[in-house]
Amino acid sequence: MKLLEDILYHIVTRLTYSGDTDMLTSPIVLPNNEPLILQLIEDTHRINCHAGAQFTFNKLREGNCIIQGRRTVNRVIRKCVICRRFQVKAMECDPSPLPAARIETKQSFETTGVNLAGRSHLKGGKKSLDGNIHLCSFQRGISGHC
Ligand SMILES: [Zn+2]
Repeated sequence: MKLLEDILYHIVTRLTYSGDTDMLTSPIVLPNNEPLILQLIEDTHRINCHAGAQFTFNKLREGNCIIQGRRTVNRVIRKCVICRRFQVKAMECDPSPLPAARIETKQSFETTGVNLAGRSHLKGGKKSLDGNIHLCSFQRGISGHC
């Protein structure tokens, strides 16, 4: 680590003579608990469409070296409200017991309901019917009279 003329600490890498940019060959060392750095992580995370920790960390590494960066990025992303909405498990509840009226054994069409059907058109539009439709509430059967 070396203090350069821009009054920032830079990491001296072995890529000094590679011909790449200075940001790549000597990234800036950033502290991990500064509010500005945490905001930088949040912005990088948000700009990249709420990317995961690994992607955000790699984006930040382009020119920066955050001390304990992976841990810091994970900590910031865990606090992201939008990401937490998608990571929450659905609430589960125990199914309630059925009421006694629905458990009794009955014959088919012992309990029925009647729907008065108006004019209905058959497939093809050739015939039409008026009538009643009897519904069995127990076995979900349907009987029709014209
Ligand atoms: Zn997010």
